[in-house]
Amino acid sequence: METEIALYPTLTPIIHSWVENFLKDSDQIHDLFKKYGSPINILSPEPFLENFQAYKEVLESHGLDHLVCFARKANKGTTFVKAARDHGFGVDTASYRELEQCLDLGVNPKKIVLTASIKNINLLELAVSNDVLIIVDNQDELDQIEQVALELGQTAKIGIRIGGFEVNGHKLYTRFGFDIDNVLNIMLERVYPSEQLNFKGFHFHLNGYSIDQRAKALTQTIALIDKLGKYNINTTFIDIGGGLLINYLENEDEWNLFKNELKLAVQGARDPITFQNDGLGYQMIDDELCGELKTYPYFNKKNKAAFLNDILSYPTHRGTIGSLLKDRNISLRLEPGRSLLDQCGITISKVVFRKYDSQNNLLIGLDMNKTQLYSSSADFLLDPIVINQHSTEYNEPTSGYFVGAYCLEQDVILKRKINLEKVPEIGDIVCFVNTAGYMMHFYETEAHLFQLATNLSLLNTGELKED
Ligand SMILES: *Cc1c(COP(=O)(O)O)cnc(C)c1O
Repeated sequence: METEIALYPTLTPIIHSWVENFLKDSDQIHDLFKKYGSPINILSPEPFLENFQAYKEVLESHGLDHLVCFARKANKGTTFVKAARDHGFGVDTASYRELEQCLDLGVNPKKIVLTASIKNINLLELAVSNDVLIIVDNQDELDQIEQVALELGQTAKIGIRIGGFEVNGHKLYTRFGFDIDNVLNIMLERVYPSEQLNFKGFHFHLNGYSIDQRAKALTQTIALIDKLGKYNINTTFIDIGGGLLINYLENEDEWNLFKNELKLAVQGARDPITFQNDGLGYQMIDDELCGELKTYPYFNKKNKAAFLNDILSYPTHRGTIGSLLKDRNISLRLEPGRSLLDQCGITISKVVFRKYDSQNNLLIGLDMNKTQLYSSSADFLLDPIVINQHSTEYNEPTSGYFVGAYCLEQDVILKRKINLEKVPEIGDIVCFVNTAGYMMHFYETEAHLFQLATNLSLLNTGELKED
C-alpha cells in the first residue's frame, strides 16, 4: 500500500500478538456480536502473567522478599483474579464485594490486602474474620478495627498508610493516610500497646508517576522503620502501591508530533485535531496558550519492570533502596493495577451509522456509549483498528470522529479525529486496544437502560468464556 500523508496525527498503539491473532477471524467477531451484542470486552490473562513475571524478576534481582498484589479495581473481571490466584500473586481489594469475591474464588487470604478508601463495619468484619491484612487510613478506622477485633475475639492484621512525604522541601499533598511526622507517636502510643492490633508494615500510594518521589518516600519510610526498631517494633513490609508507568505507543515521534499539533490547533494555527477543538487541558487565555496536557502520558521509555528497577536502584547515601530493604529483611509489596493489565484487554464495537455533522465532520456512530471506553483523564489517545468488511482498491482516505449512544452532544468516544482508509461501512468492526486497565469498566454506567458490555475471557485453548 502506498503511504498516505496523514492529515491528523496518528497514535499507533503497541499491539500484543494475541490481539493480532484474535482480529484475524472477523467471522468469529461477527458471530460474537450476534450472540452478545456490542460492545464486547475481550480479556486475556497471557500478558498479565508476562507483566507479573517481569516484576518478579526485578524484585528477585535485588534479592528481595516480595508480594505483587493486583489492584483489581482497575478491572472488574474475575479473569485476572483467578490468574493471580493460580500463579501465586496477591490481590489488592478496595470494596466489600471485591474482597468477598476474592475470598469466594479461593484467593489465599494471606495474599489479599484491603486498601478500600471507605471501610464500613461489615467490610472490617469480613476482613478481620478472614485474617486479611487491612491498610489503615486514619484514626477513626484504627479505633473501629480494634473494636471489631475485640468483638470477634481476634487480632487484626494491619498496615499503616502514610503520606506527607517531603520532596524538594515540600510535603506531597495527599488526602490519604497518616502524616509521616505523626506516625512514630501513633505507633508507640496507639498501635504497639494494643492487644487487638497486629502491626505488619507500612503502605503508601502516590499520585502521579515519579520515580524520584517513590524513592524518597521509601527512604523516609525506611528511616521511620529504623527509629521504630529502637523500640523493638518490627516492620515486615513496605507496600509502595501502584502507579507504575506503562507505555501504550509504538513511536515517540508520533507522540511528540501529536502534542505539538494539538497546541497549534488550540492556538488556531491549524485546523482542529480534536472534537470542537478540545484542548485536552490546553486553552487560550488572553491570546496565550495556557494549561497542560491532561491525559495519561501515553509514551514512556521507562515503564513497568524498568520503572520498578529504577526505584530499587535509586542511590541513597547508605546504598540503593533495594539494598536498604534487603539489609533489613523488609519485604517489598506493590499494588499495580494498570501496569499488570497492560495489553490484557480490547473493546470491540460495531459501526451503526455514518453521517456528517453541521460542520461537515464525518461522524461514525458505534453501538456503544462513551462510558464503555472512558478515561479518567482528558482522552483515550490510541488509534483504534477498523476492520472493513469489504476492502476495495479504490479506498478514499478520510478522517472522522467516533460517536456513541448517549444522547449528549459530548458522547464522543474518542475526542481525537482519526484517519481512516475509507468511510467505514455499517457493520464494520472497530477495535480499541489496551483497554483492560480502567478504560472498560471503571466509569461504565447503565443510563438509557443500556446493558453493560459482555466480558469474554480468552482461554489458552483459544476458547472464549464469559467472565
Ligand atoms: C488505584 C490504586 C492502586 C493501583 O494503581 P495503578 O495506577 O492502577 O497501578 C494501588 N493501590 C492503591 C491504594 C490504589 O488506590
